[in-house]
Amino acid sequence: MKLASFRKKSPWILHYNAGGCNGCDIEILACLAPKYDIERFGMINTGNPKQSDILLVTGPVTKRSRERLVEIYDQMPEPKVVISCGACASTGGVFRGMYNCEGGIDQFIPVDVYVCGCGTRPEQIIDGVVQALGILEKKTKELEESVRLSKKPVQEGRQLNRRNIADEIKPLVS
Ligand code: SF4
Repeated sequence: MKLASFRKKSPWILHYNAGGCNGCDIEILACLAPKYDIERFGMINTGNPKQSDILLVTGPVTKRSRERLVEIYDQMPEPKVVISCGACASTGGVFRGMYNCEGGIDQFIPVDVYVCGCGTRPEQIIDGVVQALGILEKKTKELEESVRLSKKPVQEGRQLNRRNIADEIKPLVS
């Protein structure tokens, strides 16, 4: 099976609160509960950035969370998609201008999908994740294509997976 296909069918999501009020986080938990139950679509909320495809961030970036956010993003393997969940994550929201608020997350890491609202409704979050899946599939195909065009012969019998795809693209980006 192609990498793009199974990633789209079973994305692993990492949720990180950069400094919000927990309102958006409660809505994310509602997505995991039986009423919305996003796990039925194959999505899993994971706690390890090295195994995640989608980074779901709530809250504004604070002076304390800034470095952690960037570190989490850097640890995620390519291809990855970032969702900004709620007004705070997108612009700083109600915390904008406060002494400890650095603003929206797109000032520090690239954002692919913006989900509006304060707090965001579960339906909006699911809609954002569905958009993210399309972007993830596109990025995965682009990555596979760039590996194929690199003319570096892939070892016979060796399949591309989360671990070795990073080795394949390293010469292309350096
Ligand atoms: S967007 Fe609203 S609900 Fe979400 S973290 Fe910010 S203040 Fe809380």
